Amino acid sequence: MKLQHPSEELIQQYALGENLEDKIAADHVAACEQCSIAAANYRLLFAAVKQEPEPAFDFNVTELVLHKLPLPAANIAKNKAPGNMMMLIAVFFVIVPLYFFRKFFINVAGGVSSASLLIISVAAIMIVVYRSIDMYKKYQKQLDKLNFH
Ligand SMILES: [Zn+2]
Repeated sequence: MKLQHPSEELIQQYALGENLEDKIAADHVAACEQCSIAAANYRLLFAAVKQEPEPAFDFNVTELVLHKLPLPAANIAKNKAPGNMMMLIAVFFVIVPLYFFRKFFINVAGGVSSASLLIISVAAIMIVVYRSIDMYKKYQKQLDKLNFH
């Protein structure tokens, strides 16, 4: 007799009356009190499962589940995520050319001193960065809301 009990799967196969390829395991289950009890329990369980009718819902599961979902939050998160991404891409395409053509813009500004132009630029970038962080935080909050439900 094997000291180790065979796997639950093998015991289940034995309980189902299948011929176990592992002869040692089959002999073990037959001889071992613990495994015999397990096999008997599986037999009872399988018999009970067979008697149960096929599980069928007499209601529309999808409709019921969808009704319970926080639909507005889900929609906002879905719609805003690509929107935020587009915004960030747009910001990227504005800031990068501004950076490379900064000398040109300073010349265009002419009378305006480069110091005040720099302050205006920094302020504009700060606003964009602040807005991006704000949007990201909002998006994160919506995601948290979704995960909570
Ligand atoms: Zn055993």
